[in-house]
Amino acid sequence: ADVEFDRVEKETSVEFHYENGPFTLVPAGDNKINLVWLDDHEVLQKVANMPAADFAQELGKKSHHLFGHAKPLTKAFVFPLSNLAVPVVGKDGAFLIGEAAHAFPPIGAQGLNLGLRDVEDYVAAIDGLVPGFSATDARNASKKYDDLRQGDLKRTGGFVDGLFRSLITEMLPAQGVRLGGVWALKSLSPLRKFAFQFGMGR
Ligand SMILES: Cc1cc2nc3c(=O)[nH]c(=O)nc-3n(C[C@H](O)[C@H](O)[C@H](O)COP(=O)(O)OP(=O)(O)OC[C@H]3O[C@@H](n4cnc5c(N)ncnc54)[C@H](O)[C@@H]3O)c2cc1C
Repeated sequence: ADVEFDRVEKETSVEFHYENGPFTLVPAGDNKINLVWLDDHEVLQKVANMPAADFAQELGKKSHHLFGHAKPLTKAFVFPLSNLAVPVVGKDGAFLIGEAAHAFPPIGAQGLNLGLRDVEDYVAAIDGLVPGFSATDARNASKKYDDLRQGDLKRTGGFVDGLFRSLITEMLPAQGVRLGGVWALKSLSPLRKFAFQFGMGR
């Protein structure tokens, strides 16, 4: 859903971490935000079908009333979490970039970052190709792209997949690890710096 608050954090996503997953306000210009709320399907269905005034109250409660009055701008839609990965992203002159190569649930905020790194490696892989290049050149470039991408795709895909599974599992230890991880990120500055660098693919 898109929502307008009285005030928002400009250019900063705010995540509240709850037992069933994050409740995130993504800035969308002016005082608007895009809402990313992960929770049990029944909870979300109920909320999505509420009258706008009740929905606004729920949003206020979940965001600890930090941003003033919430005004829903659109209907809320519920999507099941899903994950997509492919084993090969470059072959026979074809290059898979962005969500053609990987689609993540919106946790860990990695989809666009990873897509930008795809572009970076794509540019490196086609560097030197000039108009009139041969089919062999194209095949070699796509193979080079695949080689360049594999490590990052496995690392980042594994990280998001781990987070995803910790959300859908009923196992308390997995949830404990996730919550412990969030706590550690909040408390330990070097770990937080490392996590930011990892998130930016560095
Ligand atoms: C709620 C949410 C929050 C997110 N938050 C983050 C975040 O904080 N950080 C982060 O890094 N990533 C985030 N992501 C992921 C990020 O948005 C995506 O990974 C990124 O937008 C993918 O870029 P893309 O260009 O591959 O695909 P898209 O952005 O989906 O672009 C594909 C385009 O192709 C068009 N299209 C589709 N089919 C056709 C067709 N047949 N013909 C012509 N055009 C077509 C579509 O209309 C669309 O414009 C989030 C995603 C969601 C859903």
